[in-house]
Amino acid sequence: MPPQPVHKRVHPRGVFSRFKGNIEAITIGVKFFFNPERSTLIYPKEYIKLKDGYRGFIVLIKDKCINCGSCARICPAAAMKLIRLPFTDPKTGRTRMKLWPVINYNRCIFCGYCVDVCPTEALYHVPYHDVVWDTMEEAETDLEKFQKPPEWKTEKEGIPVRYVFDEKKGLVKVRVEGEE
Ligand code: SF4
Ligand code: SF4
Repeated sequence: MPPQPVHKRVHPRGVFSRFKGNIEAITIGVKFFFNPERSTLIYPKEYIKLKDGYRGFIVLIKDKCINCGSCARICPAAAMKLIRLPFTDPKTGRTRMKLWPVINYNRCIFCGYCVDVCPTEALYHVPYHDVVWDTMEEAETDLEKFQKPPEWKTEKEGIPVRYVFDEKKGLVKVRVEGEE
């Protein structure tokens, strides 16, 4: 005779166990609300100062670009595209068409592959990611816009902070003074 399934009796859950998770979450929230050491970021009055090397927005140095198209080919999100524009060679004075990279931040996932693959270091990241545009179109660059870092209002209006770990207090927010 094949083994028979074992039917376990399931007891209905009590009211407390049903709301246990919610009660724990509220308790933690109340505890931290009254904790003078709480480290909530008061954004945008404060902002986290990211270190150089952070994969934020991307800027093109046009003079370094050799129009190879590697950045667009490697982009996994189809955010980097090549556009065809006329270019006048300063040496010969001849005008011909060239392919230039432009980026659509509606699609970009900030993986940094385009920056890594560029053979001439014509692309670089700026260390911020909190830029707001009013429309989807504003998040798309043309060649001119792609050569300037996006306007970053937070830096002008906010206080730079960073979170550090303290053995006794845990994560602590500290103000960043004159540091790059
Ligand atoms: S950072 Fe990544 S997703 Fe964004 S344009 Fe470069 S390769 Fe594409
Ligand atoms: S990979 Fe670099 S050099 Fe090549 S098209 Fe892109 S930005 Fe220009």
